[in-house]
Amino acid sequence: MAAINLDAIVTHIAHDLANRSDRGKVADYIPELAGINPNQFGIAIIDYDGNVHAAGDADVPFSIQSISKVFTLTLALGIVGDRLWRRVGREPSGNPFNSIVQLERERGVPRNPFINAGAIAVTDVLVTGHQPREALGQILRFIQFLADDPTITIDKAVAESEKRTGFRNTALANYMKSFGVVENDVDFTLGVYFHHCAIAMSCRQLAMAGRYLAHSGRHPATDLSVVSAERARRINALMLTCGHYDGSGEFAYRVGLPGKSGVGGGIIAIAPGKASIAVWAPGLDRSGNSHLGRIALEMLTRSTGWSIFGT
Ligand code: GLN
Repeated sequence: MAAINLDAIVTHIAHDLANRSDRGKVADYIPELAGINPNQFGIAIIDYDGNVHAAGDADVPFSIQSISKVFTLTLALGIVGDRLWRRVGREPSGNPFNSIVQLERERGVPRNPFINAGAIAVTDVLVTGHQPREALGQILRFIQFLADDPTITIDKAVAESEKRTGFRNTALANYMKSFGVVENDVDFTLGVYFHHCAIAMSCRQLAMAGRYLAHSGRHPATDLSVVSAERARRINALMLTCGHYDGSGEFAYRVGLPGKSGVGGGIIAIAPGKASIAVWAPGLDRSGNSHLGRIALEMLTRSTGWSIFGT
């Protein structure tokens, strides 16, 4: 097989998408995100040998939002192991990311760790036994370690903005608290949740942070094991089935890679054994997933043959 020229591919994708007029709509339910310029686009790929292939606004930090849920899930599994699955399920929800109805039917146990309710339950596990500040510090340091980059920070204005307007997330957390699925003070757990969603990272930093999922759980820079190969495989499986909410089927159909989106317009995608990829375009589709980000990944898997379902 001819070598794949990833530099040429990312340059082509960035160029193609720069000229598109249909860019989706930026998330405006978090006031601080409403003013983001929708004309930005970034892509970064870290290949298996650690080479970076980047184009467009790959070094512009953006709000990672729900992409942080991959890292909090990884940490929580490290702390409580498979006991986590008593508090959160592993099935796609088929509902919007902030849906409330399903939670009532299923007695306060969220469908999966990536919808908001599930991610709040996972954050609660990280808060148990800690001050909120410590729990947040642990999450941030973990991401900095994964990305080999101690400069990654939290955008406090975004966190505050969401805290002020996060009525639905507050409702979800209180509802779960009534079933004992959330154990800690609701304000503590939500505070940590809003702040980890407000971590700002560039495509390059995010792709670096995702490497362990492409390397069977190993952190390639230090050769430390972040998670077992089995756990990495399972996190990838959850990203494939649940990482794009009620757009997960469409993402698997079009892109064919485990991926996790955030309402900041970022997507992290993993080509197991091949690469860790991050794309960013702030405009979202109806399911709250980056519109051009998904198109970029579709172009990428088409030209590389990286879909896990075949070339
Ligand atoms: N912080 C956002 C929220 O809770 C995350 C949602 C997302 O990125 N899909 O609404």
